[in-house]
Amino acid sequence: MAKSTRTARSTASAPQLPSRPFAAAGPAAPLTCGQVSLDGLAADFGTPLYVYDAAQISARLSLFQLALAHRPHLVCYAVKASSTLGILRLLAAQGAGFDIVSGGELERVLAAAPSAAGRVVFSGAGKSVQEIDRALEANILAFNVESEDELELLAARAARRRRKARFSLRVNPDVFAETHPYISTGLREHKFGIDIRQARRIYNQAAASKWLTPHGVSVHIGSQIRTAEPFGAAVARVARLVRDLAKDGIPLTSVDAGGGLGIDYHASPSFDPAAKVAEYAAAVEAALKGLDVTLLLEPGRFIVAQAGALLTRVLYIKRNGKKTFVVTDAAMNDLIRPALYQAFHEIVPVTPRPGKLAPVDIVGPVCESGDFFARDRKMPPLEPGDLLAILDAGAYGMAQSSNYNTRPRPAEVLVEGATAQLIRRRETIADLLAPELL
Ligand SMILES: *Cc1c(COP(=O)(O)O)cnc(C)c1O
Repeated sequence: MAKSTRTARSTASAPQLPSRPFAAAGPAAPLTCGQVSLDGLAADFGTPLYVYDAAQISARLSLFQLALAHRPHLVCYAVKASSTLGILRLLAAQGAGFDIVSGGELERVLAAAPSAAGRVVFSGAGKSVQEIDRALEANILAFNVESEDELELLAARAARRRRKARFSLRVNPDVFAETHPYISTGLREHKFGIDIRQARRIYNQAAASKWLTPHGVSVHIGSQIRTAEPFGAAVARVARLVRDLAKDGIPLTSVDAGGGLGIDYHASPSFDPAAKVAEYAAAVEAALKGLDVTLLLEPGRFIVAQAGALLTRVLYIKRNGKKTFVVTDAAMNDLIRPALYQAFHEIVPVTPRPGKLAPVDIVGPVCESGDFFARDRKMPPLEPGDLLAILDAGAYGMAQSSNYNTRPRPAEVLVEGATAQLIRRRETIADLLAPELL
């Protein structure tokens, strides 16, 4: 059977869901999250409020798991995309592994799903001694090592515990991926990974160490990458390295293709998440053809972004000359992507008012001109008190939030069918002041 047929069949059995869980029954009907009223959630839990749909998150994880069903695999969700315990627990229950980039994220996985420790890979260019020790103690699956110095430190810490450490070198494949410069990582000029031309030598040296077990090779070329080709190109370079190492007598058991698959923030009707994952998996598989390895993936954004929205209330409508500003109770500290990456987020009134569309700037209360969610966005008429949903905010939303301007961070709610569960309460000013000493 042709591989493409197999991929198509396995994704066809994935749950079919619209790419966003937020929808309205008709043009004048209020927006809901599945069966749950967003107005009701805002009334119960206040705003700003992050709302996530559990079914959408599970369905996205399933897409990856099913697309890889023909080969041993582990989907290691990238915790940094959204690290709330309730979301980690949901994913762990479905068999996900986790890609972590700090000791803090390891503690989150251990708190949410202690039995998932053996499914954790630890990425990141600056792991501290304490972080390495804790990960060795937890007996994680593998360290994705980003420098020779780190590998030396890992061997030394493993020796102290008299326990071998499994590692993969994170190689830099020197592959260009079209995305925002801040989230592109796969070129030699970036700080990430080890030059792939040095990797063979380093594996051979490490293979002689009593305390290191070469486990695999990992690669991560960036984030919000919309086409499959760069992933295929990167994994093809990794596969060549795996074959070379096999000749050297160093058999590797895994290839970790990283994360980075992008979503369509404009949600054009042609965007089909299942087809995207199938195309992506096919490109990676083609590059691995004939290699007997476990495939690890580290998707973050693709799993959680479209499952989440940030609900915010309009506080004021302000007119300065020709410009109209819609001031909301959410701000850049709650969702920084527009300010940081000039990212586009679709914004919809939960209960649309009839009337003509007109361009407005949607801005938060923080004292920065960069505190905006949208500029010159055509919106229907809005009034103070109206509820807006900022869509596709499930990834790098709450996870990148801060307390800038001493603003308590939003609460988070997970919707499962007809029920909504508070998975993180709203912060209080007392929470913010607690660590401070006078
Ligand atoms: C950020 C990151 C990911 C996840 O990237 P997404 O674009 O959210 O899929 C995966 N692996 C590593 C090493 C990362 O740094």
